[in-house]
Amino acid sequence: MDTIILATKNRHKTRELSEIFGGSILLKDLTSIDFNKEIIEDGNSFIENAIIKCRTVYETVGLPVLADDSGLCVEAMGGKPGIHTARYGGEGLTDVQRYELMLREMKGQTNRNAAYICALVLYISPTRFYIVQEDCRGTLLESPVGTGGFGYDPIFFTPVYGKGMAEISEEEKNAISHRGKAALAMKNLILNLNIHKANNYGKKL
Ligand code: IMP
Repeated sequence: MDTIILATKNRHKTRELSEIFGGSILLKDLTSIDFNKEIIEDGNSFIENAIIKCRTVYETVGLPVLADDSGLCVEAMGGKPGIHTARYGGEGLTDVQRYELMLREMKGQTNRNAAYICALVLYISPTRFYIVQEDCRGTLLESPVGTGGFGYDPIFFTPVYGKGMAEISEEEKNAISHRGKAALAMKNLILNLNIHKANNYGKKL
């Protein structure tokens, strides 16, 4: 079975991706290996940040690494908060405080188009990596609905189901979400790669 290091300490992400990948790919996250380096996400795009996470972890472990980066882009806000979504409004805010701030910023705005984006990068070696990016388009609601999901889901409406993202089941969300679609594409890619055959990990070239 292929083993890949997942560049996250977020066990929720590990579980979610492992479920989508099924039994054919074993993901080990940063909580199960000895990794204490700080990852400085100073890229200018989701893809750049995912590559930075991969490269930093690869430099320590010398094994294939998978990393994701995601966020919410709002058309009327010029695509913001984008790569800064996790810190929108400042450090230390709760998810509810962040989406309430967004609702205030968007008050009276008629263009409510928004999209979640997820970049996933599989970094096999410095000369061999694969990039997938997916989106999930919808609109921002005027007020929160539902109790499921996380982050901005209570204020995100998906036209696919005609419901709020926090009103649908996890399976329904995985089928249409930015992360679900990117993970499925990456799974199919990994299953068609012999990533562990060219055993030259850790070498510069
Ligand atoms: P990161 O990918 O861990 O850097 O976090 C991106 C941020 O985007 C999260 O903290 C959430 O606020 C937001 N986000 C990403 N995906 C979703 C989603 O599926 N639902 C709600 N919020 C999301």
